[in-house]
Amino acid sequence: MLRHAQAREELFRIVTENAADMIALVDMKGRRLYNSPSYKRILGYSPEELGETSAFEQIHPDDRYRVLEAAREARKTGLGKSLQYRIRHKNGEWRVFESTASTIRNEKGEVAKLVIVNRDITERKRAEEQLEQNSFHDALTGLPNRRLFLDRLQRCFLRGQHNPDFRYAVIFVDIDDFKVINEKIGSARGDQIVGEIAARLLSSLQPDATSDFSAKVGGSDVLISRLGGDEFTVLLEPVQDPSDAMRTANRILAAIAQPFLVEGGTTSASASIGIGLSTTPHNRPDDLLQQAETAMHRARALGGSRCELFDVSMHSRALNRLKLETDLQNALNHHQLQVYYQPILRLEARQIVGFEALLRWRHPEQGVIAPDKFIEAAEDLGLLNSIGRWVLDNACRQISEWQSRYPSGRARYITVNLSSKQFAHAALVSETKEALQRARIDPGSLQLEIAEHVAIADPEFAQHVFFQLRQAGIRSSIDDFGADHSSLSWLRRFPIDGLKIDRRLINAMPSDRASCDVVHLITMIADHLHLEAVAEGVEAKVHLDLLLKLGCKFGQGYLFAQPLAPDHVESLLRKEVVKAEGHGAG
Ligand code: C2E
Ligand code: CA
Ligand code: CA
Repeated sequence: MLRHAQAREELFRIVTENAADMIALVDMKGRRLYNSPSYKRILGYSPEELGETSAFEQIHPDDRYRVLEAAREARKTGLGKSLQYRIRHKNGEWRVFESTASTIRNEKGEVAKLVIVNRDITERKRAEEQLEQNSFHDALTGLPNRRLFLDRLQRCFLRGQHNPDFRYAVIFVDIDDFKVINEKIGSARGDQIVGEIAARLLSSLQPDATSDFSAKVGGSDVLISRLGGDEFTVLLEPVQDPSDAMRTANRILAAIAQPFLVEGGTTSASASIGIGLSTTPHNRPDDLLQQAETAMHRARALGGSRCELFDVSMHSRALNRLKLETDLQNALNHHQLQVYYQPILRLEARQIVGFEALLRWRHPEQGVIAPDKFIEAAEDLGLLNSIGRWVLDNACRQISEWQSRYPSGRARYITVNLSSKQFAHAALVSETKEALQRARIDPGSLQLEIAEHVAIADPEFAQHVFFQLRQAGIRSSIDDFGADHSSLSWLRRFPIDGLKIDRRLINAMPSDRASCDVVHLITMIADHLHLEAVAEGVEAKVHLDLLLKLGCKFGQGYLFAQPLAPDHVESLLRKEVVKAEGHGAG
């Protein structure tokens, strides 16, 4: 009998001493009866040192209760179960173990001892956590990503369905003109700004955040995440009323308004913010995110640097917009865009001197769409730069052709319109030069038009661009001049070649005396500064007569011709003079 028991113990010793896992024999009071040599390798303790410590006290305080419970259960049922818990290494570090216990009974059949096999799974755990971190967090900022955000939103949604009093809000934050900022300072510094924005959101909304990025603002839990690019979202739960969300949005606006330090100087930024509240009708959690995004677009359309709450009327607008966007993506590829040309005339002689290139979209279902309806959307989609280059190329090629085929002077120049973002685009001058070279035309044959309000929004910058254009020999003019901005003080300092007198002023003549006076004044100033003034929107004979009387030499308008497709322009170019009969519909 004794021999038999001895043989068993011998076998136990041989197995455990060669095992990679830590194997322990403990009695039911937790006293150590045996520890395998691998304890030294894995936890740093020699068998003697282990003898002086309590196995229980080496377990992480948060895990002790579970371990006790499992031991109690093993004694009762005789079945050990698998368990994960942390044990302290001699150097103080916590290591994670997966342990399985088996029971040994005494002669009376009672459970007397436990054999515990502990497998060190610390590394595996770390890898799992890292993986978890990566799949739920954004690499650039470390913030929770879209997945984690949608997961939390889903939880709120479910909670809201069970409890109608539970309200929450989604705040959608988008940095205004981030593309322009990126182009100006480079994408590496752009990334720095995104990182800085993340840090500011955290410090303004979650000054005492825990590691999982959630904390409280005035009674609500906040979760800040980065959806991607320059888009951030904040989930607030619960909220009492919309003002909770508005207050948070205002904090965000203030945090972003502070200048950003990037190598070589400071950059300023602003954000457009939209808020979706769980109280507006929605069927899925994603709908609420969509609503917040729609409200953000509204905030941006109203000029940015502001916050808008979603309301139901925004929905239909958003749908139209969505359709417009998908159609527009196709327009360029499917050759639905076309440049029309409106003649500019020397009024006295009724002779064509140049053309304005005006963009048209031949929509397969909606017919010809005017640029006012889609330029802004193209801009938001980041399509306007490529569309703009395409217009420029076409216009240059067209004027080159007309110049070679028709008498000199009739196709002296072509004008091309620029949006504010095109005007701010760093590559404007170099790309324009390239287009001129491709078409082999003289730079003086091209005139770029910039709206007055754009030039005046940042006059120093405008002056700088005008100067670069002048150096390249490219003409420039101020569009819609005299409408509602007074840039007279700047006019002298802008190195430009022309002014387009706003068509609202022309249209108000002759009944409105004040408009007549303004037009007269503009022609005088233009003469004085050697700028070519062109009256826009000349629709009637009275306009023409008055303009001639007021000394305005050039004009364009329906009285002479509408914007026309190239073929229709040709027949006009063959004529000596253009009769005032409104050549229409290209
Ligand atoms: P804009 O530069 O002020 O262009 C003149 C607008 O007046 C054109 O509208 C033209 O069709 C219209 N017009 C011409 N004669 C008359 C007239 O006698 N009476 C009236 N009531 N209107 C007249 P359109 O073609 O719809 O263009 C609208 C705006 O879209 C343009 O205003 C310009 O700012 C912008 N745009 C047009 N083409 C482009 C483009 O290629 N790029 C960019 N960025 N903007 C463009
Ligand atoms: Ca124009
Ligand atoms: Ca204009």
